[in-house]
Amino acid sequence: MILSTHAIVGGAIASLFPSDPLNAAVFGFASHFAIDAIPHWDYPLRSISVGKGADNQRLRLSQAVMIDVMCVGTDACAGLALASWLFATNASAWVITLGALSAMVPDPLQLAHSIYPREPLVTVQRFHGWIHSKRKLGWKLGLSSQIVFAAAVSALTETVR
Ligand SMILES: [Zn+2]
Repeated sequence: MILSTHAIVGGAIASLFPSDPLNAAVFGFASHFAIDAIPHWDYPLRSISVGKGADNQRLRLSQAVMIDVMCVGTDACAGLALASWLFATNASAWVITLGALSAMVPDPLQLAHSIYPREPLVTVQRFHGWIHSKRKLGWKLGLSSQIVFAAAVSALTETVR
C-alpha cells in the first residue's frame, strides 16, 4: 500500500498504546505486512525498483531518481501529518509518530535490501514478498479503496479507544 495508508494505520495502532512505545513500534511494524496482504494499488516508481530481484546498486542521481524521491517523500510526510492530525495528543505525539514511522519502514527496508542483500534484510524481504498481495488493482479502485480503508481504521480506532 502507499506510505500514507501505512502511516495512518500505524498511527491508529499507536493511539491504542499512547504510553507504550514498544508496543506501538512492534504492532505498527507488523501492520505493514498485514495490510500489504490486501489487494491494493501502489504508484509506479520510475527509477527505484523494489520487490523480487530488485537491484539498485547501480542507481545514480538522475532526474528520474529525484522525481521518485519527491513522490515517496511527499507520501511519507503526508502520512505522518495525517497520522498526527488524526491521533496525536500533546502527550502521545511522539508515540504516534513512532507508530507511523514503524508502519512505513518495511518499504525503505526493501530499498536497503536491494542495495545490501544481507541478513536480516534477506529474511524480511522474503517475508514481505511472500505476504504482499499478488493482485494489483487499477489506480482508481486502488486509491479510493485505500482512502476508505484508512478512514474505516481511523473510525474504528476512535470507537475502541
Ligand atoms: Zn510494503
